[in-house]
Amino acid sequence: MTGFVDKWDELIDWKKRWVSEGDFFVEQLKDRGVEKVLDAATGTGFHSVRLLEEGFETVSADGSAEMLAKAFSNGQSYGGHILRVVQADWRYLNRDVHGTYDAIICLGNSFTHLFSERDRRKALAEFYAMLKHDGVLILDQRNYDALLDGHYGNSHTYYYCGEEVSAEPDHVDDGLARFRYRFPDQSQYYLNMFPLRKNYVRRLMREVGFQRVDTYGDFQETYQADEPDFFIHIAEKG
Ligand code: SAM
Repeated sequence: MTGFVDKWDELIDWKKRWVSEGDFFVEQLKDRGVEKVLDAATGTGFHSVRLLEEGFETVSADGSAEMLAKAFSNGQSYGGHILRVVQADWRYLNRDVHGTYDAIICLGNSFTHLFSERDRRKALAEFYAMLKHDGVLILDQRNYDALLDGHYGNSHTYYYCGEEVSAEPDHVDDGLARFRYRFPDQSQYYLNMFPLRKNYVRRLMREVGFQRVDTYGDFQETYQADEPDFFIHIAEKG
């Protein structure tokens, strides 16, 4: 996994990623008057650094100490930011992270790493509990519906930042989506993910208490069910 992460970070230019995401998340947060944000899936720090650049008070959490170390050094390199990092598993977030937040973000198709429904419910309930009464959770996911329903066959390839890195589904069924990532030096890595259906995630969010869930496709408010590569759920607590 470390090899994969280093390669990914080397090749996925943060500036290009910044441009391709645009201001979507930042606008969503600013429109709601958000000040304090928990980045629950910090990874190598891309979103945390972006939030800090935009002036949000940001705490950066991740279950992996190794990721947080990488994020911390990336923060120093990109703009001299000192990240406030906390090692925390989403399922026990309230034990390890203190305070309440205006917003929690869980981005980069991270939620797909939980393989049991119990864990997904627990994680969403922990996010819910850490939000202020009018807080918002922003969580994204790959569009697995299209894959599961066979719209892309097994040959659809996702390219990141030009054609330097590609991800292709290697195996897809109701319980597992395994992707093959290929890098320009011919190396390849396999990652196992849980294929979240869009409406399933929306339902879980409502069941743990979120009052309103809006889902966007590839940063657009209107989308056709099988078109976008990613969905972004914006779940409001109050
Ligand atoms: N948001 C970042 C981005 O978009 O570049 C990183 C996303 S990375 C794909 C997913 C991250 O989620 C990893 O850093 C992993 O350690 C973290 N993660 C996975 N399961 C977790 C859990 N149960 N609790 C906390 N973090 C977890």
